[in-house]
Amino acid sequence: MSAVVSLQTKKTFLCVLCVSAVKTSFESVTDKPFFMKIDIKGMDLEETRQWVGTIGLESYRAAQIRQWIFKGLAVSFQEMTNLSKAARHNLEQEAQLQVLEEAEVQVSRDGTRKHLFRLHDGSFIEAVLIPERDHFTLCISSQSGCSMGCRFCLTGKQGFKRNLTPSEIADQVIQVRRSMEDPDRLTNLVLMGMGEPLANYAAVIKAIRNIVDLEGMNFSNRKVTLSTCGLVPEILRFGNDVTVNLAVSLNAADNETRDFLMPINHAYPLETLMAACREFPLPHGRRITFEYILIKGVNDRDEDAIRLAKLLTGIKAKVNLIPLNPHQGLDMSPPTEERMVAFQEILIQHRFTVMIRKSKGRDISAACGQLAGKRAEG
Ligand code: SF4
Repeated sequence: MSAVVSLQTKKTFLCVLCVSAVKTSFESVTDKPFFMKIDIKGMDLEETRQWVGTIGLESYRAAQIRQWIFKGLAVSFQEMTNLSKAARHNLEQEAQLQVLEEAEVQVSRDGTRKHLFRLHDGSFIEAVLIPERDHFTLCISSQSGCSMGCRFCLTGKQGFKRNLTPSEIADQVIQVRRSMEDPDRLTNLVLMGMGEPLANYAAVIKAIRNIVDLEGMNFSNRKVTLSTCGLVPEILRFGNDVTVNLAVSLNAADNETRDFLMPINHAYPLETLMAACREFPLPHGRRITFEYILIKGVNDRDEDAIRLAKLLTGIKAKVNLIPLNPHQGLDMSPPTEERMVAFQEILIQHRFTVMIRKSKGRDISAACGQLAGKRAEG
C-alpha cells in the first residue's frame, strides 16, 4: 500500500510540470488493479447478463460481448466496435480479458503443434493441436500439473500445482484458434491434456458450457470429449450437467494391474468404475470411449484383451488402444506393432469397435507435460 501511495504522490508532484502527468495520476487512482476486475471470460451468459447491468449496460449487450470474446476471438475491449466508446471504457475499468501468454510453440513434422502457455503465476500448461484428415482436434489442459500420480504419465510425476480457472481453460481454445489460418477447421476438443478434469469440476463444467453454448464458441457437444482417470462420483454428476462425450482412461482390466498403474483405482476399483459407466446417462447414439495405453509385459497379453472384452460387455463402448509414449526416466515401453494388432483382433472378435491410435508429434516434446516440465525445471 505504501508503495502505491508514494507512486501516486510522485505523479501528483509531476503534474505541476506536465498536464499529461495529471491524467496519468488520475488513471492510476481510479483504475482497479487487475486482480480486482471481473474475469469476464470466466462467466456464463446469465452471469454476464446480470453483471453488465451492474455497470449500466443493457442485458442484450452480454451476448454481443460474448460474441466478440468467443467467436471474434477479441483480445481487447477496444475491438468491440458495436459498443459505444463509453461502454468499452467502462468495460476496461471494471473487467479483465485474460489472455494466456504463449511461451513456445513446437511444430512436428506430421503437423502436430504443441503450444506452451505461461500462466500469470509463472506456471506452464500445454495444449496440443492435432491435424486429422479434414479437421483439427485440440487437446487442452484443466490443471497445472496433476495429483493423480499415474505411473506412465509425466505430468503425474511433476505433481499438482493448481486448478485452472474457467477462463484459462477456455482461453487455450481461443488462443490456438487465433494462431490458425482457418480457425473454423478446429472442430474437435478433448480435455485430455495436463490434469484430471473432474478434479477441477466446477471450473471445467463452466468452461465446457462456454465452449458448447450457442452464444459461446458453439462447438458441437458430440465433438467435445472429457477424459477421466475414474473419479466415480463426478462421472455421474458430469453426465447430468453436460452432454459432451465421456472417455475413461482404463489401461487395465484387473484391479491388481490397475492399482499398479493408477493409484485412483484404490479409491474406485474397477467394479465401482464399471458400475458408474453402466449408469452414465449416455445421450442417444453415443458410446463411452475407453482408452487403453498398451505397455509391454504389463497389460498387453491375450488374456488382458479377453478380460477387457468381458469387463466392457453390455456397455456401449469403443476402445482406443494407444502405444505407451516413452519418456526419460520411465521404466516401461510400448509393445511391438504385431502385439498391438493381436490385442486389437481379440477385441474385434468380441464385436468391439477398436482403433489403434498412434501418438502424433513424436519428434517434438510429445509426451503430455514434457514441454511444461522442461520449462518448470528452468
Ligand atoms: S494420466 Fe491424466 S490423471 Fe493420470 S497423472 Fe497424468 S494427467 Fe493426471
